[in-house]
Formats: sequence, structure tokens, C-alpha cells
Amino acid sequence: MNGKDINSIIRPDLLAMKPYSSARNEFTGRARIFLDANENPYGSSFRGVTGLNRYPDPLQTELKKKITDITGIQPERIIAGNGSDELLDLLVRATTIPGESNVITISPTYGMYRVVAETNNLEVKEALPGEDFILDAEKILKAVDNNTRIIFICSPNNPTGNMAPANEVLRLVNRFDGLIIIDEAYIDFSGTDGFLSLIHEYENIFILRTFSKAQGMAGARLGIGYGHPDLVSVLNSIKMPYNVNNLTLAAALNALDREEVCRSQVERIIISREKLTMELENIEGIKKVFPSSANFILVRLDNPGELYNYLLGKGIVVRDRSAMPLCEGCLRITVGMEKENEILVDEIKNFFSSKPAAIEEKDQNMQMVKRRRTRETDILIDINLHGRGIADIQTGSGFIDHMLELFAFHSKTDLLIRASGDIDVDIHHTVEDIAITLGLALNELLGDRKGMNRYGFVMPMDESKAIVTIDIGGRNMLVWNVKFHNNIIGLVPASLFKHFFRSLADNAGFTLNIEAEGEDDHHIIEAVFKGFARSLKQAMEITDDKIQSTKF
Ligand code: PMP
Repeated sequence: MNGKDINSIIRPDLLAMKPYSSARNEFTGRARIFLDANENPYGSSFRGVTGLNRYPDPLQTELKKKITDITGIQPERIIAGNGSDELLDLLVRATTIPGESNVITISPTYGMYRVVAETNNLEVKEALPGEDFILDAEKILKAVDNNTRIIFICSPNNPTGNMAPANEVLRLVNRFDGLIIIDEAYIDFSGTDGFLSLIHEYENIFILRTFSKAQGMAGARLGIGYGHPDLVSVLNSIKMPYNVNNLTLAAALNALDREEVCRSQVERIIISREKLTMELENIEGIKKVFPSSANFILVRLDNPGELYNYLLGKGIVVRDRSAMPLCEGCLRITVGMEKENEILVDEIKNFFSSKPAAIEEKDQNMQMVKRRRTRETDILIDINLHGRGIADIQTGSGFIDHMLELFAFHSKTDLLIRASGDIDVDIHHTVEDIAITLGLALNELLGDRKGMNRYGFVMPMDESKAIVTIDIGGRNMLVWNVKFHNNIIGLVPASLFKHFFRSLADNAGFTLNIEAEGEDDHHIIEAVFKGFARSLKQAMEITDDKIQSTKF
């Protein structure tokens, strides 16, 4: 064994401390009747995960077994926490003396190291990296004194995205007497195994990983730590007994059974990161794009605050890191889905090509959030008529979701809908109220229709044909000549579609004339939504600055 002895790292009084013994700790063996923990024996009314009425396993035995199967690391070296943030706090409490010890962070880095240390009344010494944020062991060792108990290394580092070089880390591990925490929250995006295997060789290394990043479970709060069994044992004795809840445990076990999903998402993110890096490098106003081994990219430019605010105005939020040490002018951009990255790049290009203010303002006016609540339904619509066709729709009916996604795509509208309604009665109220809310939003956004084409006409045709004419001028009328073959389409009553377009036309102030026919009802109604979207898009187009009229 190399490195330092773990028992000189752990706070001596904790080694002797007797931990709280919970009901579930004391119980071993098999039982049929649980009368030990003052739980409600009937179970919770929540449908989804069973066993919520019981306290969780304090040592997460099943989860650890699975992690052992995957990593080869024995369970006594593994600790699970309520996010890796909890583990950071436990590690600090287990190895430092408040008011006396200090810790070292390497700036710029993840802000919680400082917060956790300061919460425990510890001095935080900031060491700086070398060129291009590369970790430099000698610089860090210079900051070490007799009271230094922890060095925090983040690899890949947040917010810079670079990895800690192995030779520098080993130099630190061999020459530093305290604990070296290597936070590998983003390691899955690096294409490397990280430093996990070193825990068998060095007692003073502790590795942190998380389910929040690659595993896509930030909302579940699950962090995993790996280190020496003696330190893990102390962490277990000072943690809250039931720190990982049953919902999270069920979610994690389920996700680990389907690891291929995570793997393919990580691959996509890595491909997107490389593409995004290249595209950002090609934007003239961006001065530097730092290479990243994580799922985010740090960029440097002259006016980060302005770009940040501009993007925010477009509904895109990135992280302004320009106030962090060595990060002057820097924004940190998380790699999103392919379409999101495209939008981001387009908007950054728009920012640097400085679109005329008038168009800018018009764009701003084309988005709104509308919420409408009745006794039966609660409809939230976030709409941007000058969007890219991005839809995120949850109505309770997969078929209606699909139709509205088609509408968003073909009208290039960004559309988020969350609808909850009395669909246990039937879908009628929900569909009607979505149409009303959407109609009201459209009417408000189109305003006085000034400069707009006003009229639209399309005839999209696959195997089904739909003819849709529209006049968005403010009068409402629906002419519906759509021939379906069945009474139900995609679990939705066919008659409800006419009702949808009538409610929408009434509230938006549209005159709609819709004719459609074909062999298959599904295709017919698809053609209607597609046709409506495209004719609306035509009608909304700005042609001049006047209000259009049929009268000469
Ligand atoms: N470590 C790093 C480097 C992080 O960036 C973050 C979250 N942004 C965390 C840890 C926190 O992870 P968790 O969600 O597991 O608490």
C-alpha cells in the first residue's frame, strides 16, 4: 500500500464514536411482520413504488451489490449519499477540525467545496492551476501547511472541462499527508476510467461519482463515493441513517438494469460536444473555446454579460462564470440535445451579427406563457411563434400530443404544453381547453396583425389530402368538411377534432376553412394539423407594415 495511512486522516474522536443504531440497522434475518420502526403498515396512497411506508435500507445493500457487479469495487469501499454534495459534507466533517484545519481547492472549480468547508468553519486556500487550467502539483503543494487536511481535485473540472493529469495527481497523493478527494462527477463524458482503481493502492484517495450527470438522475439525488473501508465506515456512522430514499433506490436500480440507455445518451452528448465545440470555434466573436472532457463547454468572449442576457431573452439559459478566478469573459454552456445546440449556435450567431433592434423586439413579442384554469382543467402553454418547431407536449393523450407536435413542427412554433384535466371522465374538456388557451395565446401574440400576410392557403398531400385556408384577421368562423371513416381516432372521439378547431378559431379570431379526405383517419387528421400549421405560418408572415384587407 502506497500513500498515507487512513487512520491519521480520520478525525480521531470519530473513530471511537458509537453511531446511532436505527431499527433497520439492528434487524437482520428474515421477518414477516415488521413492528420495529413505528411505520404505517397499510402503505402509502402513492402509486408507483411499493414499500414507501417502510424506512429504506440505511446501507443500500442491494444498490451497492449492483455497483460492485459493475465496478468490481467491494461494498465496504462504497458509500451512497443524497447527491455527491452530501458526501462532500460527510468527508469534510470526518477529516477536519472546525476552526483549526484548512482545505485546498484549485481555482476555478466547483463552488460547493468552499461552501462545505466554510460551513464547517475551515479556512479555504485557493491554489491556481498552470497554463490552460492544467493542474500543477508543485503549486498546490506550496499551499499545504500542517493544518491542511483535504485537497479537492475535480476531474474533469467544472467549469473548465479539463482532466487532471495522472502524473500530477500521483505526485500529490505521494507527497500529501491528508485526504485527496477526486470528484469525478463528469468522468463518463471523458472516455477514460478516471482514478477509481487507485483507491486500492492509496489509502488517502477518495473518489466521488454521481447519478446526476451521465445517468440523467439529478432530480433523484444520488451520489456514490469510493474509498478506504475505514473511512467509509466512519462516513456511514456520521451520515443521517436513511439518507437515500426508497424512490431514489428504486430509480437507480432500474436505471442500472438498463445501462445501455445511459451509454448511448453519453455517446450522443460526446458527439454533440465535439460538434458544438467546432461550431463555437467558427463564430468570430468567440475568442476561445476550451476543450472539454465533460458535458459542458467553457467559452471566452469580450461581452459575456451581454450574450448571457441576449440568450436569456431567447429563453436559453447558460451559466455566466466570468466572475470566477481566471474565468474572465467566460460562459459555461451545457451540451443539450442536438436541436437545442443548433438553436443556441444560431442565436449566438444572431447576437454577433447584431440583428436590427426592430426585428429583435418583434421576436420578443412573439412569445408568451399562458395559463388557464377551470374547474375541470389546468392548461399551461409556453409558446414562441418565431421558434424552430420544438415541442414538449403533455396532454394526457399521446395522440393529441402527436397532433400538437406536428402543428409545432410545421408552423416552426416552439410549444410547451402541460395539460391536466378530468381525463378520467373523458378527454373532452382537456382538448377543448387546450384549444381555447392556444387560441387566446395566438390572438394575443398576433395583436393587430399589422404587416402580416393575413391569409394562408395550403394543400398538403400524402396519401390523404387536406385543404386549409385561413384568415387571421380577427373574425371567427370554422367551415369543417373532413370525412373520417371511424368514430374514434387514436383513442380520441373523431368529433372532438372539429370541436378543437372551432374552439381555437373562436378564441384566436381566425376564419378557418378545412377540407380533408383520404383512406386512413390517422393520416387525414395529421394532414389537417399539418395544413393548419403551414397556412397559419403563411398568414403570419410579415409582408409590409400595413394591415391587410380584401377590400380595395
Ligand atoms: N461535483 C461537481 C463537479 C459538480 O459539478 C456537481 C453538480 N453540478 C456535483 C458534484 C454535485 O453532484 P450531485 O448532484 O451528485 O450532488
